Amino acid sequence: MERKVRVRFAPSPTGALHIGGVRTALYNYLFAKQHNGEFIFRIEDTDSNRFVPGAEEYILESFKWLGIPFDEGVSFGGNYGPYRQSERKEIYRKYVDQLLENGHAYIAFDTPEQLDAKRQEVANFQYDASTRNSMTNSLTLSKEEVENRIANGEKYVVRAMITPNQEIVVHDIIRGDVHVNSSILDDKVLYKSADNLPTYHLANIVDDHLMEISHVIRGEEWLPSAPLHVLLYRFFGWEDTMPQFAHLSLLLKPDGNGKLSKRDGDRLGFPVFPLQWTDPKTGEISSGYRESGYFPEAVINFLALLGWNPGNDQEIMSMEEMIQLFRLEKCSRSGAKFDYEKGKWFNHIYLQKRDNHNLATRFMPTLKEKGVECDAEKLATIIGLIKSRCSFVSEFWDQCYFYFLAPESYDEKAVQKRWKEDTPNLLNALVNYIETLSDEEFNSIEVSEKMVISWCESQGYNLGAVMNPFRLSVVGALKGPHMFEITALLGKEETLRRVRKALETIA
Ligand code: GLU
Repeated sequence: MERKVRVRFAPSPTGALHIGGVRTALYNYLFAKQHNGEFIFRIEDTDSNRFVPGAEEYILESFKWLGIPFDEGVSFGGNYGPYRQSERKEIYRKYVDQLLENGHAYIAFDTPEQLDAKRQEVANFQYDASTRNSMTNSLTLSKEEVENRIANGEKYVVRAMITPNQEIVVHDIIRGDVHVNSSILDDKVLYKSADNLPTYHLANIVDDHLMEISHVIRGEEWLPSAPLHVLLYRFFGWEDTMPQFAHLSLLLKPDGNGKLSKRDGDRLGFPVFPLQWTDPKTGEISSGYRESGYFPEAVINFLALLGWNPGNDQEIMSMEEMIQLFRLEKCSRSGAKFDYEKGKWFNHIYLQKRDNHNLATRFMPTLKEKGVECDAEKLATIIGLIKSRCSFVSEFWDQCYFYFLAPESYDEKAVQKRWKEDTPNLLNALVNYIETLSDEEFNSIEVSEKMVISWCESQGYNLGAVMNPFRLSVVGALKGPHMFEITALLGKEETLRRVRKALETIA
């Protein structure tokens, strides 16, 4: 029988969630949903030194905004809890003991000072088979001495006992078989008596086992830990249920030189976090995709394609489509360049897909700020006219302010180029003609356009000589949507008022 797919996203709450972490979570989610599996949210907080208050809440809020739901985990509940590692202390102790009893681990008393001294003494010092016999641990001390030290409250750690010169193979769905010689590994610390907590490696393995995780999909930065993880599965005798690994390639700087960092975002002016983050220690604020005006579906689509593609040219995909098409085997082994301009392009596309009323609601606060009143229906119509030129709601105002405000001034260059000697005559004639149109005629884009154009032709006027100054008068510049789309919405009275004002102002 095939194993039930259960995957997890297991961040350590050490700060804001990096956009690469969001991609890891997204791939886990797509994989889980495609296989009708479960997606679990686990908090790996056994390193209290790195704990940052607010980080867990931030991560949860990010996924809520992004529309990536979990089936189980911290704040979601489930049958495998608790899902916060700091609440699982009692669970781990027995696995530490098991490793000690089976001789796969040993107790070490070396203080940080002693370890430092050793590092000074021995170049490239590594705590392993070649050095462990010269250290202070249960292999070099008598049993009584070890017991005495523990009874006296001396702090100790438990280290994995790695046998050198063994071949370890990490089967990776993306990378194939990765062969490692155990001699390069050190005797990693698995547990610290000081806080009675396991380290990342042990807690990670024990929890993946107990939570029946079937696939570990995570960033490439964890690949060096994988051989130890494979060994731990062996030590516990859990090889049969060891999850399958898939290590995702890195997100690279836009120029491809190295890993994308928070500093690249600051330097090049784009967010690397889903939501704005305020560092609780320094107060430093980092920008977020949400606050920068991105739509969550655009961020998702953008990220999905950084390191994976469906094997054709399709770029725009709904979550449903991605769930159908996603393949771990198709994830790239080499890093994906972070192309921020592409991210903007995705937002442009998703802005076009958004309902105009929804966009109107988002734009309303800007109008209020500008002191402009406009009903939602009319605003939605205006947005429908201008949105093809925008990638963000924040760009709307520049594209549509003239619907609400008559020009205060006129673009000088355009005036020089388009306001000719006979312009006042032409515009006066246009005003007279428009006055003969009924409101109904004027407010229909098609009718008014047709009538004004045939009037121009019948008078023998050059169309551009009329329309350019007409636009300049109404908009203040030679920009904006189709002219009659603007005037139909402004209405006859306001349009004429603006043309008359231009005639008075532009000498
Ligand atoms: N706690 C690790 C992290 O912060 C999890 C790594 C893994 O998925 O095994 O990413």
